[in-house]
Amino acid sequence: MDNKMEGDSDTELLDPFKHSMAEVSSRVDAYKRRLEEKDMQLKMASLSLQSSFCALSFDLIGIRQDIEMLERQKEQHQQLQRELMARLEPDTIEVSTAENGSPKVEINHCKAPEGKDEMVFIRFGPSKCPYQNCRRQMDSQLLLLHYLFDHEQETSGVQQCHRLIEGQRTVLSFQAMNYPFGVNQVLGLLAYCGTVEQQFVQQKSPMRRKVYNSFLPQQHVHMESDIPVVVLMCRTKPSAMLSEKLQARQSHLLDKHTDHIFVIWLVTPNIRRKLNATLYLCGRDAAVMGCSVVRVREVNRSQETHRFMPVDSNYWRLTYAEMQKLSNGFRDELHLEIGLTEVPPT
Ligand SMILES: [Zn+2]
Repeated sequence: MDNKMEGDSDTELLDPFKHSMAEVSSRVDAYKRRLEEKDMQLKMASLSLQSSFCALSFDLIGIRQDIEMLERQKEQHQQLQRELMARLEPDTIEVSTAENGSPKVEINHCKAPEGKDEMVFIRFGPSKCPYQNCRRQMDSQLLLLHYLFDHEQETSGVQQCHRLIEGQRTVLSFQAMNYPFGVNQVLGLLAYCGTVEQQFVQQKSPMRRKVYNSFLPQQHVHMESDIPVVVLMCRTKPSAMLSEKLQARQSHLLDKHTDHIFVIWLVTPNIRRKLNATLYLCGRDAAVMGCSVVRVREVNRSQETHRFMPVDSNYWRLTYAEMQKLSNGFRDELHLEIGLTEVPPT
């Protein structure tokens, strides 16, 4: 009889003539317990639904806030664009063109927001970004902003902009063998801020603030008068400086990697102020060091090595053997120490 009871559903009534009162009462209790459990489960499900609904409502509020913030940012962006266009209006710009047809320098005077001093915006025309995979055409006023934000996280090792006063040096480190053949690689980004005296004068009397870099965010705004400089390196071969015809004629010669050369050069969008760079290169052993002085090239000129290599002052050329010696057989990291000096105008 016990076995029969276990198999029965608790909804089935027990015959009081065949079962004891205790059995009938136990069946009723089991039925009540099951109903209570079901009721509890329903209440829990209802609570869970309510909390999901609340979470969804909060998500919706968050999405609405994000949309509002995006709309505000869009308005700010449009405002910045309008300001930029206003600055670039032809009737507010003095245009001076060099007689030899070199790029234009455009100067635009504008009262600073504080109202006391005058900001002088100096533009050097558009140029291609020197980063190999980018090559975006950029106005010189926007290049530093572009370098800092579009290339800051790249694997090329550019993590920060090294700010340099004349007389100071900065160090960029790299592994020479990590650089593929024939590809221009950026080693680092510098910002030249003049001599100590120039800095002092600028801070004491900012009556005519020269602005070379616009729209920098608050943490970089102190660099608006600096000259941005990009340091590049390319592993190539000496014949790269020959014309394409001559290169084709030499193509039958076997290209040995020990014939490769390493070319290091620097570029700036500032075509008005001429800079020279003093470069020192060493590995782990600081006693084994190479040194060279190059002029900083203009970024709006071609960055193809075969175009600028015929002029020696444009770049530092290191042979494979020299690099091998400095880097202890390409095992050590190399450290490029850089100092910048301004060439007085003639
Ligand atoms: Zn770029």
